[in-house]
Amino acid sequence: MTATKNSNGSIVVSEADHLAAKEREIRRTYPRVLKGTIRKETHGAHAGKITVVIKCATKGCGNTRRVATSDLFQVRYCPDCTRNLRNAKRREARADGKPTKKTKAHKAKAQKVKASKSRSPLGDGLPVPTGKARKVRKAPKVQPGDLQPGPIAHAATPEPVTVS
Ligand SMILES: [Zn+2]
Repeated sequence: MTATKNSNGSIVVSEADHLAAKEREIRRTYPRVLKGTIRKETHGAHAGKITVVIKCATKGCGNTRRVATSDLFQVRYCPDCTRNLRNAKRREARADGKPTKKTKAHKAKAQKVKASKSRSPLGDGLPVPTGKARKVRKAPKVQPGDLQPGPIAHAATPEPVTVS
């Protein structure tokens, strides 16, 4: 640590010392950060950020990776291992028959389209009275304490129930 005094007499810590101190602090939380690798990026993907080099968390991998300190909490592996792990997880999900994110989104979209198609062309937001829709309009089960529902045939726009 080399601290110098400026013309005002206050102690000036060089940027290198400042970074070294920061690195010590970071390595307490993230021991995988390699000593002496901290630096401030002036260009590239991490421009303006402080980066360090981490050791891949995979046993026996030995690869290193430069990451922004702001990403340390979520980066543990080298790019190769990250990709391998992701692929392995996907394979696992497929083996379990779990739907992937993509198919889930597709299903939701399909349902949305279906719902919008069954809407009345008048644009009143009511479902077209098909056999299925009529079934849905069956009298709701009356819970104890609920108000009696009005006649079902005219229940297109239910009266707001005020609870006193
Ligand atoms: Zn690795």
